[in-house]
Amino acid sequence: MKKKLNARFWQITLFSIIISTCTMTLVFYAQLRKQVFSDLKVVTDLLIDENAYSKKTENLRITLIDKEGNVIFDSVIDEQSMENHLDRPEVKEASINGMGMGQRQSNTLSKSVFYYAKRLDNGNILRVGKESGNVFSVFLSTIPLIGIMALLLMGICMIASHYLTLEIVKPINDLATNMDNVNEELIYPELIPFTRKIQSQHEEILSSANVRQEFTANVSHELKTPLAIISGYAELMEAGFCDEETVKHFSSEIRKSAARLLSLINDIIKLSELDTGSIEDKLELVNIASIARESVEMLAMSAKSKDVTLAYEGSNEANIHIGKELAQELVYNLIENAIRYNKRDGRVFVSVLTENNDITLYVEDTGIGIPLEHQERIFERFYRVDKSRSKELGGTGLGLAIVKHIANLTNGIIHIQSEVDKGTKISITWNR
Ligand code: ADP
Repeated sequence: MKKKLNARFWQITLFSIIISTCTMTLVFYAQLRKQVFSDLKVVTDLLIDENAYSKKTENLRITLIDKEGNVIFDSVIDEQSMENHLDRPEVKEASINGMGMGQRQSNTLSKSVFYYAKRLDNGNILRVGKESGNVFSVFLSTIPLIGIMALLLMGICMIASHYLTLEIVKPINDLATNMDNVNEELIYPELIPFTRKIQSQHEEILSSANVRQEFTANVSHELKTPLAIISGYAELMEAGFCDEETVKHFSSEIRKSAARLLSLINDIIKLSELDTGSIEDKLELVNIASIARESVEMLAMSAKSKDVTLAYEGSNEANIHIGKELAQELVYNLIENAIRYNKRDGRVFVSVLTENNDITLYVEDTGIGIPLEHQERIFERFYRVDKSRSKELGGTGLGLAIVKHIANLTNGIIHIQSEVDKGTKISITWNR
């Protein structure tokens, strides 16, 4: 930025020097031309007064021409060799108007010859010529002065641009070093939207880093317990003090803990897949009604083992862009919860209904219900209403977090209705 500003200053200075040089040259030259002609006029008048038409003067060329354009006298060239002069602009003008002026390039590049002609009473024309500098010479003569001026200006400009850029850049540098506590009154108003955007992104990054850190801590903690159980029981068995019955019991505990580890890891993998967004291209159109029906069939045994009746009612076809894998994951998690947190002889109803442009999946149970104060939070990772109960029933605390993630990804809206000891109804609505 500093470099750019400096370069701009230089460009502007150079440009203004060029412009002012050109203007000054033109103004000077116009003045000089005016002066030369007025001098020539004075000299011509003097010569006429003195009747000294054939005078030889240094620096001046005096020519006397008759009415027909023949040169009667010339102070520089032999008049005999001179051609008819009636076509010379100043002579022509003088013969018509009484006086005329002309200017022609001299043999020297930087000089012009200026002519002033006047008609005499007898009709002859007296012309006085003088060699003088032209625009080019004026320009050349101003070069040293302009050079000095340019150097001086460049010097001033360098110092000014240095301090000016420092001053311009300072608030931006201050801002960069203190992004968290920005005093909006002290910075450029144009930068306010920019700082606000950065601040909000900063906060987002911090909060997502916090969430990730919390998640990692939770994961480690969750993995530790089953691993400690496995290693503890294995150690006891290794020592060889256990009878057959105890070995059986320990083995069963080890198997349960291993199963828990496995489902935890599966859920973590699923969440991380959802987080990275790699699954987004797999959202093909699937019939969620048939997936719900299949899931009900697959979980029938598990429901039966808990004395819960599980049934599907509803439409046969309802297509949404969710992809088979995610649809199964979502329906499965909801039904598993409805069975898991149910009561003996409880019921679970699963249905998919289409209404206008909406498709809604309902999973309803007659289970233990969720207290109102927990209803918002159960979709958070590792949040459980009753931790030990969830663990005992094989829950990971990640099921609903996965459900919410999938719903967000597919633009589904989750709705929850629950009453303690009566049951829970969770619905997800997609707009086609
Ligand atoms: P978990 O693996 O513990 O079931 P989830 O994320 O699936 O984890 O659910 C979070 C918590 O929400 C559960 O621990 C449970 O307390 C509560 N919950 C979820 N579904 C139901 C339900 N149908 N009835 C009662 N409580 C539920």
